[in-house]
Amino acid sequence: MSDYKLPANVGKLHFKDLLPVNPNGEENTRIFLSKLNEILTDFVRDTSDRNEKVLHFKFPEDMRASLDLDLADGPVDLQQLLDDCHVTLKNQVKTGHPRFFNQLSCGLDLISMAGEWLTATANTNMFTYEIAPVFILMEYVVLERMRQIIGWKGGDSILAPGGSVSNLYAFLAARHKMFPQYKEKGLTSVPGQLVMFTSDQCHYSVKSCASVCGLGTDNCVEVPSDERGRMIPSELERLIVERKSKGHIPFFVNATSGTTVLGAFDPINDIADICEKYNCWLHIDAAWGGGLLLSKKYRHPRFTGVERADSVTWNPHKLMGALLQCSTIHFKDEGLLLSCNQMSADYLFMPDKLYDVSYDTGDKVIQCGRHNDIFKLWLQWRSKGNDGFETLMDHLMGLSEYMVERMKQMPDKFYLCLPEPECVNVSFWYIPTRLRNMPHGPEREQILGKICPILKGRMMQEGTIMVGYQPDDRRPNFFRNIISNGACRKEDVDFLLAEFDRLGHDL
Ligand SMILES: *Cc1c(COP(=O)(O)O)cnc(C)c1O
Repeated sequence: MSDYKLPANVGKLHFKDLLPVNPNGEENTRIFLSKLNEILTDFVRDTSDRNEKVLHFKFPEDMRASLDLDLADGPVDLQQLLDDCHVTLKNQVKTGHPRFFNQLSCGLDLISMAGEWLTATANTNMFTYEIAPVFILMEYVVLERMRQIIGWKGGDSILAPGGSVSNLYAFLAARHKMFPQYKEKGLTSVPGQLVMFTSDQCHYSVKSCASVCGLGTDNCVEVPSDERGRMIPSELERLIVERKSKGHIPFFVNATSGTTVLGAFDPINDIADICEKYNCWLHIDAAWGGGLLLSKKYRHPRFTGVERADSVTWNPHKLMGALLQCSTIHFKDEGLLLSCNQMSADYLFMPDKLYDVSYDTGDKVIQCGRHNDIFKLWLQWRSKGNDGFETLMDHLMGLSEYMVERMKQMPDKFYLCLPEPECVNVSFWYIPTRLRNMPHGPEREQILGKICPILKGRMMQEGTIMVGYQPDDRRPNFFRNIISNGACRKEDVDFLLAEFDRLGHDL
């Protein structure tokens, strides 16, 4: 028996009875889509309901057994398709639930979601103005606004499928600027071993550039970070000098603004001085921390000097809460992106079109087709205004500060890895009753590290909260809590802390 019942005569119809295959199918199409809308809106309601679980965990084999995923020879009817939609969402983790703290992308911004619905309906490709006129203009407006916020006049930007690819675009542009012949002549045009530098806390996609682009990961040098996870500039300089003395060519430095695990901000001005001295491209990976550029309160000192960068990665799908996927890469230099990646495909980018072909942005990227990631961001930005985004950033940071403060009031139960986090990442251990009298040190950390996966397992089975854990170079497993959902409130933080205690005190 279905929870979402179509009238029987409609339920037994098939896709070919609806628009656009059947031009007389308007009425049935409306009935079908409004039922679907009911399923989706009920999911939004459940996602927002604190009495609902974040997830109903099933092991993969049980999940597989509980679902009918088969692709048959014949068509299934509309009622079955709606039931499939319902079951799919019923088994989905509610990443927009205010007690989902597991990922850098949390929350379900309703307006951004509405934008994504429209985007899906328009179903266009973003390579040329001729098939996406309004969306292309929206890209211009939003990306220019973002570059102004960074502190640049002019420049160029593009939306990419994720921060990892955005970082790759920065790498490609940097190499193109230093060795413009590389594009035609390939490897032999580079007169030596290129070397790039990044902190040992950076996102793994930076290292992947070295592997994908022919440097080899041995030539992506990891610069040590301080105890708060920030790159040590004197170490950067030492390592650049060391590589230069071997005859290598240092050309690219990545500074991270908001590291993925600890939320640390590398000191941009000190790093920029070194880049100037040794003629290196400065890229800032602000995929995570970028949103804080929008807050007067939190922008400084974290982003002080950001305008000195040559390129900046900034993911609106993280702190800003735009729906997945939405990632941007910005360049101070205008024209570089196009000259680096342009292939002038005859069948897409004809120079003799009716309109100014600089609007055919598709030739700036190494992809051909591009998903429309702009409309949901543009619509969300309209809905909030600049002030609304600032309020959102201050809300998320304020809640994180509240969480840290509450943990400090319960030092027997919670041990913070960093006493003063710089972003909404709060890293900590939960301390079960039996370990509360043990002095904190490497020995206790080892035991606490082993407790993390067990406690996480209980969390998943219980379904009331989700928080991630991981080890790093300095520590065994620890929890990393992320508050990046605008719907989260103090009561959710209180609930989270109480739930750790309820699920973990006897471990
Ligand atoms: C998330 C993240 C990335 C990668 O972004 P994707 O959109 O997941 O590819 C890169 N850098 C940092 C610092 C990140 O936190």
